Amino acid sequence: LPVIRAQGSPDYVPEANFYKVEAILRPWRIPQVSSALLKMGIRGVTVSDVRGFGAQGGSTERQAGSEFSEDNFVSKVKMEIVVSKDQVEEVIEKIIQEARTGEIGDGKIFLTPVADIIRVRTGERGEKAERMTGGRSDMSSTGSSA
Ligand code: ATP
Ligand code: GLN
Repeated sequence: LPVIRAQGSPDYVPEANFYKVEAILRPWRIPQVSSALLKMGIRGVTVSDVRGFGAQGGSTERQAGSEFSEDNFVSKVKMEIVVSKDQVEEVIEKIIQEARTGEIGDGKIFLTPVADIIRVRTGERGEKAERMTGGRSDMSSTGSSA
């Protein structure tokens, strides 16, 4: 497949230090996406099984009496990844690269500013809470390529 990138300039308003990248993807692509993210030092990821309705979702016809039938919802996986601002674009590019088939139903990515992060175990906030053991800074300090 040709390389596809997110087009135009990203909209980061309102400004924040951290953003949540929320990707709704094909379930069978998740292992590929998550191992690629792990390789770039992204170790904090939340995954949920969801069902959705998009361009792929069933027929465009309206059922008598309702605009959609529950039967048309398609199983997807939602990945939520909170990262520092300077990691957002590489995460988005990686998700596109690993999740894309080119067919309808590849999914969508939503970007949301995150006001703060608090690690429950320690009470740390912000950058300290965002940083994961084995994450990017650990990878670069051990000399392996990020
Ligand atoms: P600790 O250092 O105490 O182990 P931690 O920051 O590594 O804390 P965990 O307790 O391992 O956090 O994470 C709990 C859950 O929080 C994870 O299973 C994952 O679902 C979610 N999570 C953690 N960090 C992120 C992140 N950056 N983005 C999305 N989800 C995250
Ligand atoms: N930026 C963090 C780190 O480099 C990782 C963030 C994440 O795993 N979601 O440690």
